Amino acid sequence: MSLDYTSLLLAVGFSAACLGLTLFGMWLTARSEKFLLTWAVSLFFVVSDIFAYDAYIDMPGRLLGVLTLALLLLGFSIMLGAAYQFRTGDSPMPRTIFGCVSLVVTLPPMALGYDGLAFMFENLFAALLLFATAREYWKGREEAPALTIGITALYSATAASFALCALVLALDGKLALGHAPSNWAEELSLIIVIASMTGIGALSLALNQGRLARHHRHNALTDPLTGLLNRRALFDLHGNAPVGAFTAVVVFDLDNFKAINDEFGHAAGDEVLRIFAGELAGNLRPSDVAARMGGEEFALVIKRALPETVEAAAEAIRTGFATRQIKTETGSFMCTVSAGFAFGAKEGLSFDKVLSAADRALYDAKRGGRNRVNASKYRRAS
Ligand code: GH3
Ligand code: MG
Ligand code: MG
Repeated sequence: MSLDYTSLLLAVGFSAACLGLTLFGMWLTARSEKFLLTWAVSLFFVVSDIFAYDAYIDMPGRLLGVLTLALLLLGFSIMLGAAYQFRTGDSPMPRTIFGCVSLVVTLPPMALGYDGLAFMFENLFAALLLFATAREYWKGREEAPALTIGITALYSATAASFALCALVLALDGKLALGHAPSNWAEELSLIIVIASMTGIGALSLALNQGRLARHHRHNALTDPLTGLLNRRALFDLHGNAPVGAFTAVVVFDLDNFKAINDEFGHAAGDEVLRIFAGELAGNLRPSDVAARMGGEEFALVIKRALPETVEAAAEAIRTGFATRQIKTETGSFMCTVSAGFAFGAKEGLSFDKVLSAADRALYDAKRGGRNRVNASKYRRAS
């Protein structure tokens, strides 16, 4: 069985329509992923163009010619916008509008009967828009290098095939053709589009799924109020490894926090938690890990440290926090924090054990009058 150009063109149209519907369906289930909708819209224009172009092949006319050129360039401009939106999360409009400048150049020659010139412009601008789309993925390659480089390559190959079509028409030099361009470059381009579109669809969906999975993982490990790691993340990082003699766990608990909630309201309490988290984060070394354990309890894991260093770090956080005047909508006040810390041991102690020792030290700090840092009795096991 041999397939002619028109059959292949329609096959591209149907598979682009399926991809567009898939993207639209995905957007319906994840509306925050707006680029999916933008991309689906771009495919709607491309698919419409394919059917308009198919009609144009049979009945070349100025009106149909203008329609097909407009649909393709609009589709590719929106596709560029979608790629930009995927990379940055910003509106696709500026890129799309910029891409639409191509219409201003391409449509008048077609309307005036210079279809050869118009198709040359169309192919040229299609190439530029696709190269620009490839560039967006290239710029965002850090996120998932293999996938984005694959997508970049496929968009570039498609762009190059359109550039080739433009070149062949330019070399031909006919300003008016009277029919759709038909040459080896057009056929090659169609084959490249068929191959690339499937690849671009699959890789882009994998890229988006990967992003969603990372997003969910991030959410599962982050405390939404303070942005610190949560208890689960802390245990993921440290829960299974024995704690050595030079690693300390510091546990912080805000003092009389319930009274703050009662007097100034829950929102003010939340603000205090954010402020304390900021104080904690501001005093970290790159190797330290801070987490909100729940409620008004926080933990800090400090590696490669001596008791003096840990005590000094915890004291710096305590005093930094205690001297802050906290201003909220319901009032201005000060708040203090108590801390307890414990070290692991030379032979390695379980994280749970060190955390419990730090908790007991914290309890002693509370009993001792609050607003203080207390070392565990087993502050240095060796
Ligand atoms: P102590 O000095 O002994 O630690 O006393 P405390 O009042 O700080 O301790 P207590 O355990 O009695 O109260 C903790 C309070 O923390 C009770 C709870 O309502 C509040 N809390 C827990 N999570 C949150 C939160 O996310 N936001 C706010 N605003 N309050 C919270
Ligand atoms: Mg508590
Ligand atoms: Mg407390």
